Amino acid sequence: MGAKNRSTLFGEITKSSQMVQRTLDFDWASTELGPIESWDFGLINSLRILFNCPVGMYCTWGPERRVLYNDAYVPILKHRHPRALGSPLHDVWPEVWDQVDEIATTVETGGTVLAADVQFDIEVEGKPRENYYTYGNSPLFNAKGEIAGMLCTILDTTVSVIRNHTTEENLAKTIRELQAAKMTAENANLAKSAFLANMSHEIRTPLGVILGFSEIIGTQDLEAEEREQYFEVIQRNGASLTRIIDDILDLSKIEAGKFELEKSPVNIRSLTEEVLGMYSDQAANKNIQIKSDLEEIKDLVVISDSVRIRQILLNLIGNAVKFTSTGSVSIFCRVSQRADNQKEVTFQIEDTGIGMTQEQSDRLFQPFTQADATSTRRFGGTGLGLALSKNLAHALNGDVRIVNCVTGKGCIFEFSFQAEVTNALPQPSTPQNEQNITDTSLEGFKVLAVDDSPDNQELIQTILSHVGLDVTEVKSGEEAIKEVLQRNYDLVLMDIQMPGLDGFGTLSELRSRGFKAPIIALTAHAMKEDRDRALAAGFADHVTKPINSHALVQTIRSYLK
Ligand code: ADP
Repeated sequence: MGAKNRSTLFGEITKSSQMVQRTLDFDWASTELGPIESWDFGLINSLRILFNCPVGMYCTWGPERRVLYNDAYVPILKHRHPRALGSPLHDVWPEVWDQVDEIATTVETGGTVLAADVQFDIEVEGKPRENYYTYGNSPLFNAKGEIAGMLCTILDTTVSVIRNHTTEENLAKTIRELQAAKMTAENANLAKSAFLANMSHEIRTPLGVILGFSEIIGTQDLEAEEREQYFEVIQRNGASLTRIIDDILDLSKIEAGKFELEKSPVNIRSLTEEVLGMYSDQAANKNIQIKSDLEEIKDLVVISDSVRIRQILLNLIGNAVKFTSTGSVSIFCRVSQRADNQKEVTFQIEDTGIGMTQEQSDRLFQPFTQADATSTRRFGGTGLGLALSKNLAHALNGDVRIVNCVTGKGCIFEFSFQAEVTNALPQPSTPQNEQNITDTSLEGFKVLAVDDSPDNQELIQTILSHVGLDVTEVKSGEEAIKEVLQRNYDLVLMDIQMPGLDGFGTLSELRSRGFKAPIIALTAHAMKEDRDRALAAGFADHVTKPINSHALVQTIRSYLK
């Protein structure tokens, strides 16, 4: 075997190794190792192993711990020290020197340091960065068997550690989210049970009254006056049932994000006076005074939703009257300017009633919450009003809040909303259905009523014949089609949900057969989407059940001029 010189030996390692070239080019004469030509073959062989290794490796030697490393080590340096070859170890890892010095010292005293995924926060291109390394460090011996330096194998495990951390964090986050979702579902379930229990109670109460008095009227011989009185009770309880259902529907629409305001010019003062007027009898009967100062809203007309403002005022003023037995209920109103043409209107409703404790008032705006939740409470109600009012006020760009409540002294509630001022003429604030319905005769007009419920048929028949209409009843869409072909009807009242052909199918069948008269939907599908869908399908109008006879006759009248 022929002798080889040292440069040739290095050159044989690999042609592509930049480190070999740099090693050869390096001024070794200035270091403790002396010129390459003087190196012993043991050292050269170690370096050949080092250069061939695909894992990052370096060795240090001498008291300055100068560094000699391989190609695989270059990416680990993160391009910070392109000239680190032959530099003291300290210059290679200055920012983590304490950690590195400790390792080197251990090795130089004969120890071996092995560690996995150790964090070193190094700087990369001037920015601190969290890095992780797995390494093995052991002593390097010279020909005399003395420790001359350190041999280090090193892997940059930052990516996999961070990926694992992220996976663990993600896992922990997913577990937290699942636990929260489970809790929400459990709470929702509890809330649903409580909701159903409350609903059941609040619906059964008026229903029980209606059924009870109906039975009395049907089975007992009553004086005309008593009969009249019981009818009133039935009507009042029916109206209260309708209100509960309307409130529930409103709340569920708000929760489903399907709530929409209907805006038009509103005279705020007239609307407030109208609401106050609705409570004047009740207040007078209880001997309490209603005071108001509406000077600031004199002549104020804004673009807003009068139905919703009325609903909130009815709730707050109604509560104030309900929970006050002596003294007064006062309503003040102030107006302040907001951006551009916007005004903020604030009502303060103050009463001298039973008041409540701080603890009671803290939980009031939850649905079905009442200050007195005991079974012995003196005042009726569903506990829906305030929750609904607050949500409605938010939709009107405002709020409902408690300003102050003191047990035994009374409460002050505040309702504010923002709206644009307008010069347009306000809409009449009295709902249409309260206008006189007997103004013009409907005698002789022929109406076909399609409804699968015999009771509803009878009700419709009674209401409509009372105003002179000639009513024919059928119980299905199929029958309606036959009937329309035989007789000229001026108008059709159509239930939507029916077995067989439903209201929509019947409507399109009638139209396809050339029937031209108005067809009005009369249905318990009472949401705005139901109305929109009915109108889009071609119904002339949409009247909801429970049937309000005034509203029904008014609507029919508007199509039978
Ligand atoms: P409801 O009056 O139908 O019970 P609300 O949501 O309007 O429902 O009110 C919830 C509860 O808040 C009432 O049951 C009552 O305990 C309390 N509350 C509301 N307004 C007043 C008031 N002015 N004075 C005393 N308590 C009130």
